[in-house]
Amino acid sequence: MGRKLLLTHINEPGIHTLEVYRQKGGYRAVEKVLKQMTPDEVVEEVKKSGLRGRGGAGFPTGMKWSFLAKPEGVPRYLVCNGDESEPGTFKDRYLMTHIPHALIEGMIVSSYALGAHTSYIYVRGEMMPQIRILERAIQEAKAAGFLGQNIMSSGYNLEIYVQPGGGAYICGEETALLESLEGKRGNPRIKPPFPAIAGLYGCPTVVNNVESIAATVPIINDGGEEYAKIGIERSTGTKLISASGNIKNPGVYEIELGLPVEEFIYSDEYCGGMANGKRLKAVVAGGSSVPILPANLITTTAAGTARLMSYESLSDGGFQTGTMLGSGGFVAFDEDQCIVRNTWNFARFYHHESCGQCSPCREGTGWMEKVLHKIESGHGAQSDIDLLVDVAKKIEGNTICPLGDAAAWPVASAIRHFRDEFEWHIQHPGLAKTQNYGLAQY
Ligand code: NAD
Ligand code: SF4
Repeated sequence: MGRKLLLTHINEPGIHTLEVYRQKGGYRAVEKVLKQMTPDEVVEEVKKSGLRGRGGAGFPTGMKWSFLAKPEGVPRYLVCNGDESEPGTFKDRYLMTHIPHALIEGMIVSSYALGAHTSYIYVRGEMMPQIRILERAIQEAKAAGFLGQNIMSSGYNLEIYVQPGGGAYICGEETALLESLEGKRGNPRIKPPFPAIAGLYGCPTVVNNVESIAATVPIINDGGEEYAKIGIERSTGTKLISASGNIKNPGVYEIELGLPVEEFIYSDEYCGGMANGKRLKAVVAGGSSVPILPANLITTTAAGTARLMSYESLSDGGFQTGTMLGSGGFVAFDEDQCIVRNTWNFARFYHHESCGQCSPCREGTGWMEKVLHKIESGHGAQSDIDLLVDVAKKIEGNTICPLGDAAAWPVASAIRHFRDEFEWHIQHPGLAKTQNYGLAQY
């Protein structure tokens, strides 16, 4: 059994309440930082842990914290990104639903480290139950003296507010989130300046994912060095993975980074193998924004080594033969799944969610969606495949925010690895309308 740091007590009845959470050792980290540590020592501990942002980018959390500007007399903010919207990703929702105090405790630890006295948890608008759960947890924490003025007689003051989003995927992009939090349309800002310099209301701000913030609790309790002993290379600690698709046991799993992908898919401790005795055809390992990989490349790298669940191993081979850990949204496709149809589905999503600020994304996502639909419905031409590759290339790297890349990569990788399937759809227009390539070929 892999070690658990975040989900250790997930099955404990009543763990969502302050009472049970405290019985299981909750709020020890708050006590420790407020009574025994300076804010800089907390930052140092997080740096030592090697924790990398769990929202998808994998940027070192301690380093991000140390970039925070500290001009005299200017407030600093911590904003928790709970706008989880990446297709295939539902681990933050799980954490907020079942163990909300892990996030609240992490918010207090992190806010203290950053010198923030007002912090926000921005939660996707559709997650009303989670918003209520968090608000209740904040009330409980405040009544117990963990929030408010002079917390535990330390002289430190903190208020946390939950802000519902409007249900737009783009508001998960940190600068769009800040615009939305300020009451404006969620349009991404050009970076730099990064939020660490000019964030919420133009003030220095750290935006961290739900899981990253919750991970500061075991880091403080056990020490950064202990945390760094778990995992492999620069992928330290544990990671929550949302597993879905054609597997036997969909759900949220906490893994030690470095776990072989094959074990994650086939072991009963995790996905339990493919459902209905089918064969694995492809995997999207880190939410829909990362390249799709065929079965042979997801369990083994092109160099023939076992592929591991880590930032480094999943990206081994670059985008030619690798992918990314991203947000940990692991979607497995079986032999009956149609790659063209799934790629069109992703493209439809990105076209719908594009904010429309930059033309390569606004126009390109629409083009890709239309051309993919044309091929999928049996009206495609051979030249459409190269057209798709060309449009994806023109979007990649030419937009304000990563949504453009996120839209381009699934299309480019699907064609790179499954070109024959696109060609089959074009060559069998009659069949393509009624039957997908997966069913026809396997
Ligand atoms: P990014 O690499 O631009 O930035 C990562 C973080 O590091 C940001 O907070 C940024 O402000 C900070 N940073 C980077 N360089 C910095 C510097 N020089 N100074 C100060 N701070 C700096 O990536 P991103 O745009 O934050 O995130 C993109 C990722 O988000 C994608 O890879 C995707 O996997 C993920 N994503 C996740 C979801 C989800 O629901 N979890 C949804 C969409 C996308
Ligand atoms: Fe908006 Fe797309 Fe440009 Fe991002 S890349 S700012 S979503 S148009």
